[in-house]
Amino acid sequence: MRRPRVSGSFRPARLDLTAALTYDDPLVRTRTYQLSLVKVDDLTLAGYSVAGEESVVIVPELDVVFDIGKCPREALPINHVLLSHGHMDHAAGVAYYFSQRDFQGIADGVVLAARSLVEPLERLMEAVAGVEGHSSPHRFVGMAHGEDYEIRRSLLARAFSTQHLGNSLGFSVIEVRHKLKEEFADRTGPQLVALKKRGVEITRRVELPLVAYLGDTAKANYSDLPYVRGAKTLLIECTFFDPEHVGRARAGRHLHVADLPEVLEGTENQRIIITHLTRRTNLAEARRILKKALPKETYERISFLMSWRHVQEE
Ligand SMILES: [Zn+2]
Repeated sequence: MRRPRVSGSFRPARLDLTAALTYDDPLVRTRTYQLSLVKVDDLTLAGYSVAGEESVVIVPELDVVFDIGKCPREALPINHVLLSHGHMDHAAGVAYYFSQRDFQGIADGVVLAARSLVEPLERLMEAVAGVEGHSSPHRFVGMAHGEDYEIRRSLLARAFSTQHLGNSLGFSVIEVRHKLKEEFADRTGPQLVALKKRGVEITRRVELPLVAYLGDTAKANYSDLPYVRGAKTLLIECTFFDPEHVGRARAGRHLHVADLPEVLEGTENQRIIITHLTRRTNLAEARRILKKALPKETYERISFLMSWRHVQEE
């Protein structure tokens, strides 16, 4: 099944509502909305991401969703929304998320967003309360580059600046472990207990970045950030692939495939998943261009979020 290509051009034939309602015309047939599923070890990434349309990636095991898109129902039980920026294809579902959680009796949802977005988001919720006739409980936490938010014990979300809007953010979800310092490796259990009692610091803090998400971004040195470079999975946008689309990438502050060799240099990610592909380029073509653009070692770590093999057929 091929997805209908959506272009900016206006096609009057599509206004034939009767035809749309018969579901006979393959051009206007309603598609069931399916999330793409990618398994990376014990984590599930369930998402939908098409430039300008919607971007949302849920990781249920970490209780986070990277951007909320239009808030698919699978995102509702997730307690932490990590919002990269305010463009509607990433943020439209914020009000619905809080309203629908309230309706379903799910408490304690939080949206982490750039500090400068908190006030407009509060105003959005106020406006929605006026429209709905009642207000829904909601919580926004303002974040800035390098700041951490504790998702649960030993798991945190770290924000970092990205090159898309003045206030756009990426997020890395990091597991924190405490490992025994090497100099104490040969001590027995009781000896370690005694050392601890004397106030000796016998462990060191180790960060294990699990998933890093760049949101929308132009080219930047993300591999300088250890929690991006070393994340087990990297979710990276690459909107444009056509050589003629370099100008569009620059204008919208997005990545073009020509930027990827430099941006991915030095990354150690086990898996790299491309999000936010434009509908102007089909996936097979994008894959062909990607293969040519990257060294084999990098190409082999990459897949497209919206690849059909990740979409579970019913
Ligand atoms: Zn954007």
